[in-house]
Amino acid sequence: MDITVKDIYEAINSFAPFILQESWDNSGLQIGDLGDKVRNPIICLDITYELVRTAIKDNSNLIISHHPLFFKPIICINRSNNLINDLINYNINVISTHTNLDVIPQGVSFCLASKIGLQECKILSPLKEQKFYKVSFFITEDKAEEILDNILTEGVGEFLKYKNCAFTSKGIGQFRVKKKAKPYIDKERFNENKVEFIVRKDKINECISKLKDIHPYDEIAFDVFEECINPLELGYGVIGKYKVSKKLHVVLKEVKELLGIDKIKFKGDLNKKINSIALCGGSGGAFIPDALKKGADLYITGDLKYHEVLEYADKIALADVGHRASEIPVLDILKKELESKFKKLVFRVFVENKDFYNYV
Ligand SMILES: [Zn+2]
Repeated sequence: MDITVKDIYEAINSFAPFILQESWDNSGLQIGDLGDKVRNPIICLDITYELVRTAIKDNSNLIISHHPLFFKPIICINRSNNLINDLINYNINVISTHTNLDVIPQGVSFCLASKIGLQECKILSPLKEQKFYKVSFFITEDKAEEILDNILTEGVGEFLKYKNCAFTSKGIGQFRVKKKAKPYIDKERFNENKVEFIVRKDKINECISKLKDIHPYDEIAFDVFEECINPLELGYGVIGKYKVSKKLHVVLKEVKELLGIDKIKFKGDLNKKINSIALCGGSGGAFIPDALKKGADLYITGDLKYHEVLEYADKIALADVGHRASEIPVLDILKKELESKFKKLVFRVFVENKDFYNYV
């Protein structure tokens, strides 16, 4: 059976749900037709001229990039822009996975941490934005299963590797009839179940209107809890440790080898003993205070700014391995994930210069 862009989009959505992206982000379909049959897909960090030329040469019609092609609002498409022009003329679809791939377990920072051999890894800075609601409703015992089977669909009682998740507790419901009521049950005290589950933020309205449609009571008793809950720990960066502590110069040398890079920009005492390491793939300067708060000896990221280093270098060792090098490890995980779902397809990982910058 043919594999469509929609199939790939949905597979990514179940691995790194697009709803988890930040409100300022633009992960998702950038250009394309979800009905297209996929040929020779390519996974990459950025949509560059070199990548598009490679896609054309390889007869590929799907690019999955980490950084979105469209990030700032577009006010004009100039047809002399060969990049967008070529993508459209050659019918190349583009899907981007950005902050949704950053915040999941197995995401960008966990992949970097595993690449450099960190253990006991935990999220460094939990996601602050609310992405899920908890919903509960009451239903007579005999109807509970039927309603639940209907209500648990995509994004409802579902997260990453689990679906159909709910909890049912038994109790006694009661009511007194006022005028014109049409109660579903003719007893005023009866066995009633309370059913609870989580709902993804983008599915909450659909879920509640479905519940209202299929629930047999004339007045449905339900609650939507709006407090910030996430079913799993989600967030940016990782904090972990090595089995045995090492001096900073040893750590930096090993990280260079493991990431296949030839230089690391750093600030710190090379003889400092490193026990605990915090890191964040990509541009992670904003999470240095989290690394400090959690007692890390070293913070590794991909894009440190001068003023961030100036502010924190006397409190924690800092290392900048380059934006690209810090995010490349996640591409292999994405490849593995997609190839395990689509056994007929080979997902080529396209990597340009790991460091991006040239040095003279
Ligand atoms: Zn990035």
